[in-house]
Amino acid sequence: MSQEPNHPGLLIVLCGPSGVGKSTISRQLAESMHVWYTVSATTRAKRPGDDNGKIYDHISREEFFRRLDADQFLEYAQVYGDYYGTPKHPALDHLSAGRDVLLEIDVQGALQVRFAYPRAVLVFILPPDEPTLLKRLNDRGRDSAEDINKRFRAAKREIQMAKGSRAFDYMVINDRLEAAVDEIIKIVKHRRSGGL
Ligand code: ADP
Ligand code: 5GP
Repeated sequence: MSQEPNHPGLLIVLCGPSGVGKSTISRQLAESMHVWYTVSATTRAKRPGDDNGKIYDHISREEFFRRLDADQFLEYAQVYGDYYGTPKHPALDHLSAGRDVLLEIDVQGALQVRFAYPRAVLVFILPPDEPTLLKRLNDRGRDSAEDINKRFRAAKREIQMAKGSRAFDYMVINDRLEAAVDEIIKIVKHRRSGGL
């Protein structure tokens, strides 16, 4: 006999500018605690080095809009000219089965989640400073110089938007990786135990 959970899982949103360390942190979180990590759909072309970061389902624009029309996304946004979206059903099924779900998305998507799922915990990751963010974008070795510039220029806007929106429950600076991961683990444990 299947057992229904007493309470739904926690929807955890990690947000922050490209290169700040979201996928590195997510991987470490998934090693330390049980969280279900979503695979986003994107119209962005696959690039060498992609396998070291967030895992994507790379699809055409036609397919993206077909899924959007069929209401298959929990949230979606156009970021740096491409579309990104979180598939709705796997995430909602895990939540209703009592499993915690981790989304790694941009600010526009996080604001949609804030509105649609008020109980979600939203964490914005900040770089220690701008030169460090630029170095990390370069270190990732994945994007062209043009794409790195696009992401770096957008970072300031995203940080301002995140701070101005007041939608985020926590701001975490990813300076020393272990310290940032520990802080997020504490946040998740606090929320799991019913804390606000
Ligand atoms: P995002 O997923 O936010 O785009 P990544 O997780 O791909 O960012 O990280 C970008 C680069 O920065 C990677 O090369 C990663 O190894 C490195 N990195 C992430 N966090 C730290 C940290 N705290 N200190 C040093 N390097 C880091
Ligand atoms: P990248 O192409 O550098 O991996 O990601 C670009 C940006 O898209 C990052 O800010 C990343 O967080 C965001 N992103 C990735 N997946 C999703 C998603 O499913 N939804 C939204 N809204 N943003 C996403």
